[in-house]
Amino acid sequence: MKSKTALGVAVLGATGSIGASTLDLVARHPDLYSVVAVTAHRSVDRLIELCRRHRPTFAVLSGVAETAGLRKRFADAGFRGELLFGAAALEDVARHAEAEIVMAAIVGAAGLSSTLAAASAGKRVLLANKEALVMAGPLLMQAVRRAHAVLLPIDSEHNAVFQCLPQGEAGRPSLRAVRRVLLTASGGPFRTLPAERLAQVTPEEACAHPNWVMGRKISVDSATMMNKGLEVIEARWLFDIPPERIEVVIHPQSIVHSLVEYIDGSVIAQLSNPDMRVPIAHALAYPERIESGAHPLDLSALGQLSFEPPDTQRFPCLQLAYQALHAGGTTPAHLNAANEMAVDAFLAGRLRFTSIADVIADVLERLPAQDPTSLDDLLEADAAARRTAAASIEHYQARAA
Ligand code: NDP
Repeated sequence: MKSKTALGVAVLGATGSIGASTLDLVARHPDLYSVVAVTAHRSVDRLIELCRRHRPTFAVLSGVAETAGLRKRFADAGFRGELLFGAAALEDVARHAEAEIVMAAIVGAAGLSSTLAAASAGKRVLLANKEALVMAGPLLMQAVRRAHAVLLPIDSEHNAVFQCLPQGEAGRPSLRAVRRVLLTASGGPFRTLPAERLAQVTPEEACAHPNWVMGRKISVDSATMMNKGLEVIEARWLFDIPPERIEVVIHPQSIVHSLVEYIDGSVIAQLSNPDMRVPIAHALAYPERIESGAHPLDLSALGQLSFEPPDTQRFPCLQLAYQALHAGGTTPAHLNAANEMAVDAFLAGRLRFTSIADVIADVLERLPAQDPTSLDDLLEADAAARRTAAASIEHYQARAA
């Protein structure tokens, strides 16, 4: 039974890993939350199952053409809500009046328009889709401010930073007396692998993260350390902090999710077991707290927490992200698009792991930064970078053959 006072949650990217954790939390707290919308790109069976379990008002299939057969399958499964098709429907449900909370958990640039739609409609936006901020940081933050939306970070690192910062105007995090933000990184599955073996690693090895179970794209990003690069850019816009005050430290246990250093030398950190339900629960309930289902942290059992500097020789993607952030304009969008293309090619067995960074470096070198003034400018930058990346991937593929 849905509670009449429960807040409506639209889960964009419901069939993914963040989507599953979000729906788990909503199901644990039916008095507080109800599911308004679930969306998938092509995972029809999984979306039907989610409709059966959560009875949303809307279900969206953004990457599948409408057919009577599909409508019948949802109806036969007992779905009485509205079934919508196409990418534009993602924006419709993100803006819908019943959706008080929007979980933006679509992977990649494909999530930008719906995230922007939710922010422009003044929603409480739970941002997992880091690529949206990487591509369109200033535009998205401007939409948040104009519409008085509440943007809460889901990335465990940014959620940790958010929790360690004081509140400023309009409940937004403040940088008052902050010297540095330290983002922790696990180092991924290849943290200790010798450089000469990196060219041979397989997609399966890259997706086997030591601490987190995640979608395939972010798993590869973690393995190349581009994930941390994207997060540096994300932090720059979320907290309005200059890049030189954002540092990365390797912390293989993924227990300390990030730290904030103050001018008096105090350092405040947020810790938990690596379970995405912790940051999602924080953002769903903010400023209250709810149970997340995560195992309590047992520090004595853990014994040791360790830290080391990142190795930018073996993992050049982190530096490429700083480079893109310094270049500004459309360059972070170029970086993001080139990375998405290269990761896709790697997962499809068409590109070596080590060539992911080569493709991104090629694209950054070939495309000059431009000053984007609209979403269309950014989408054009994304398309241009994808064309350049496609040519570069072919080059590295031919060289490896
Ligand atoms: P998954 O790959 O597990 O899920 C991605 C979701 O996006 C699926 O619902 C998928 O639908 C949908 N999707 C894929 N392509 C498109 C498209 N072109 N248009 C619309 N929807 C699409 O990803 P994750 O849940 O791991 O990650 C989601 C986001 O959260 C990413 O931006 C990631 O960086 C971020 N994040 C994830 C973390 C994690 O622990 N997983 C941690 C921190 C951030 P379908 O199933 O039909 O393909």
